[in-house]
Amino acid sequence: MAPNTGRPTRPKQRRGEGQWALGYREPLNPNERSKKDDHPLNVRSRIENIYAAGGFDSIDPGDLRGRFRWYGLYTQRKPGIDGGRTATLEPEELDDRYFMLRVRLDGGALTTDQLTLLGEISQTYARDTADITDRQNIQYHWIQVEDMPTIWERLESAGMTTMEACGDSPRVILGSPVAGISSDEIIDGTPAIEEIKRRYVGDPRFANLPRKFKTAISGQQDVAHEIHDVAFVGVEHPEHGPGFDVWVGGGLSTNPMIAQRLGAWVPLDEVPDVWAGIISIFRDYGYRRLRSRARIKFLVKDWGAEKFREVLETEYLKRPLIDGPAPAVPERPIDHVGVHRQKDGRYYVGGAPVAGRASGSMLIAVAKAAERAGSGRVRLTPQQKLVVLDVPESEVESLQAELTAAGLETRPSPWRRHVMACTGIEFCKLAIVETKARAAALVADLESRLAEVQDGLDNPVTVHLNGCPNSCARIQVADIGLKGQIVTDAEGNQVEGFQVHLGGGLGLDAGFGRKLRGHKVTSAELTDYVERVVRNYLAQRTEGERFAQ
Ligand code: SF4
Repeated sequence: MAPNTGRPTRPKQRRGEGQWALGYREPLNPNERSKKDDHPLNVRSRIENIYAAGGFDSIDPGDLRGRFRWYGLYTQRKPGIDGGRTATLEPEELDDRYFMLRVRLDGGALTTDQLTLLGEISQTYARDTADITDRQNIQYHWIQVEDMPTIWERLESAGMTTMEACGDSPRVILGSPVAGISSDEIIDGTPAIEEIKRRYVGDPRFANLPRKFKTAISGQQDVAHEIHDVAFVGVEHPEHGPGFDVWVGGGLSTNPMIAQRLGAWVPLDEVPDVWAGIISIFRDYGYRRLRSRARIKFLVKDWGAEKFREVLETEYLKRPLIDGPAPAVPERPIDHVGVHRQKDGRYYVGGAPVAGRASGSMLIAVAKAAERAGSGRVRLTPQQKLVVLDVPESEVESLQAELTAAGLETRPSPWRRHVMACTGIEFCKLAIVETKARAAALVADLESRLAEVQDGLDNPVTVHLNGCPNSCARIQVADIGLKGQIVTDAEGNQVEGFQVHLGGGLGLDAGFGRKLRGHKVTSAELTDYVERVVRNYLAQRTEGERFAQ
């Protein structure tokens, strides 16, 4: 409480948040300055015309650590720098001369020809790296700037792009991996995804946002819609039929928030316009002063869903939206792993690598196997998995055997199926700990230690590993979420470890895991810890009780 000085008090003046619509057009931080100085999409021509010939040392620092992202390029971490030093070094001290390159694959949709090409690019330019991210992207490493013109030429000749795969822009749109073929979907969102991509990706009007903007569109609840900046979720309207329920303002990272429903029903053909209205609100009213408050979730939290919808209708759409019902929540998470019958009588077959770790060789092998099985289509999933579509029944078993041989398990253990991991210290400059290799070791350990109980796990236990406090692997919505940090071991040494979050989830259990005070585990103790937690859960649960309940 303010001390009583006897003088009348005035309400505290709220500092401007850098909202363009309120007149704050002057850049208020270096990132905003960089975007104003030169439009980020302009960097492509400099890469093609200057940097590809001049090499790494010719790259302007503002492009290197800023605008390159608009084309999916980040410098990767210099090898050999331990996680304890991450926060103590300047960005340039962490920079390797190689890049991570993200290929955006909206809806995770690929033909087998495209998958083959992705694999060949990986083998030629990326030392056979090609991870499957939880945003349905393919992520390469070891890319050199000299190769970018050729890589783009090859990707674009096959209808793929890296444009706005990163940066303060509308990033890859998540879509159901089984859109159009699943008998469980209420509506196929693919036309809306394609139309948004066609109209707006690369549109300079939406390429300078306050921060990144993540979209999910699905006719069923398989895209983690609760944690997106905007999501359109399939719902049946009692009068108007199938369409989409609109959610805004979700996101994880250091201030996690579950998205709010606007209570509006949108038909398929109006999704692109409504999406454009919402991203316009973000562009115009989003907070640009502090990067840490620049996601749309902060605006939605301050305004509330009712005001957000009112501004959308009155200032942007110039018409009211139709009220709509909430979609029913499925009983368990949907990940499309295993063999499932399609609407047309054929099958789709979902396989699990370990925590998204894939390679160019794996992608090529999968494409060949899919083609031998009579399929021409695959999709990546938001759970770091891969699904082969359109498989005739007679080919299912042989395809499963070929996928297993390629490193994709179609009958995975619950651990392999439900463990996810971000990039981690192997390549990420922000990382504090190792994640992918740690996840692989954890899966192998749990498969041998818990083999006798895993069949009793009718409800899965999800385990997500992050290499730092950002939440690329969605730790707050896992049953066991592990946030990488340096911890003190029993002998008092500073070692790699994790802060544990317990009991988060999506769907029926939508909410964030509890961060218990002092609940930290070293990397070396991780398997023991997870085993103990799972055994306790199995011993104490009532029948059918989920971990997060
Ligand atoms: Fe990098 Fe952190 Fe994201 Fe992992 S969570 S990929 S370490 S930024």
